[in-house]
Amino acid sequence: MIYLDNAATTPVVPAALEAAWPWLTAEFGNPSSTHELGLRAKNALEGARSRIAAWLDCPASDLIFTSGGTEGDNLAITGLAMANPRGKHIISARTEHEAVLETLGFLERVHGFEITWLTVDYHGNIDLAELNSALRSDTTLVTLMLANNEIGTTHPLPQIIEAAHAVGALVHTDAVQAAGWFDLRVGKNGTLVSSVDALTISGHKLGAPKGSGVTYIRGRLAVEPVLHGGGQEFGRRSGTENVAWAAALATAVDALSESDSEALRISALRDEFISQVLTTVPQAVLTGNPVDRHPAIASFTFAGLNGETLLLELEQRGVIVSSGSACAAGSNDPSHVLIACGIVPDIAQASVRFSFSHSTTAEELNVAASALTDAVASVSGLGR
Ligand code: PLP
Repeated sequence: MIYLDNAATTPVVPAALEAAWPWLTAEFGNPSSTHELGLRAKNALEGARSRIAAWLDCPASDLIFTSGGTEGDNLAITGLAMANPRGKHIISARTEHEAVLETLGFLERVHGFEITWLTVDYHGNIDLAELNSALRSDTTLVTLMLANNEIGTTHPLPQIIEAAHAVGALVHTDAVQAAGWFDLRVGKNGTLVSSVDALTISGHKLGAPKGSGVTYIRGRLAVEPVLHGGGQEFGRRSGTENVAWAAALATAVDALSESDSEALRISALRDEFISQVLTTVPQAVLTGNPVDRHPAIASFTFAGLNGETLLLELEQRGVIVSSGSACAAGSNDPSHVLIACGIVPDIAQASVRFSFSHSTTAEELNVAASALTDAVASVSGLGR
């Protein structure tokens, strides 16, 4: 099996599982308990937080452990929007993940917020001039993802942050797909996310278990909690902390090979794979920005073919991929991201996303490219 669906989820790295094990067994204490068992759990939790803080270059107290990307997006967006006194205007784009879109829909429907949706071009790029003219004195928040989960397009975060901060608005970025591939040091000058106000990370996209995650929210900012209760996580997220998953997440982060050369190596493989597909499969059209894109995402449409049949044909040849996002797969609705890019539904339904890991090899991609050629030939014979 060649697994090229790492943007949907990644396998748990063995060291992360080992790091979790004690906190699920003998060391089962509640970190809020004052006895020895509880104190050891508390130390493990804070140790995990400090290791992740070192990776993100932020104070440990700015990190909130969550159950993943969906909760993190809900917490950052709702939390900042509801607590920020500037007004009820938020700016985003329709290419965001459902965790962002639905949270904004909730704020609009239930709390009377007004959302300005920036248009995106065919490649999923926003227009900075449009952002600048959308920013208002009552804009509370701009939320735009760092790298798109379906088409891989990256947003120009430094310019977005500069424009938003110039009028006093906050910026949140969903960095769920970016984590492990981009430099996410929020406190370091010159990174894409320097001085961002909030940033969401999900554990299961980077080798930690599903249901683990962490969200960064700049310390002095007011946050209205989404989960109310015992006041854990600095009063920002109630609920007994999942020490095992925090330990696993910190260990998966430690295990990330994040050097620039690693991202460059995979980017080079991605580019070779893209050109191989474009030359051997006449129906293939690359989606997303051809240059400013996620190092490990290559996504295409195949006009005239049936997308679901193509996925099955690939699976029969041992290549595991998905069409658009895992959430959209299984439903017959074409991807909302591709539709936002102006791709017609008939073509958008025939999309395939190949997403790589740090250990993906050139040989695997060669096999995947020829499996794709065979699969397309077989599906073309069937017609739509
Ligand atoms: N945001 C993005 C960009 C994603 O790709 C995903 C998952 O696919 C999420 C948020 C949701 O994360 P989780 O599955 O941890 O809830």
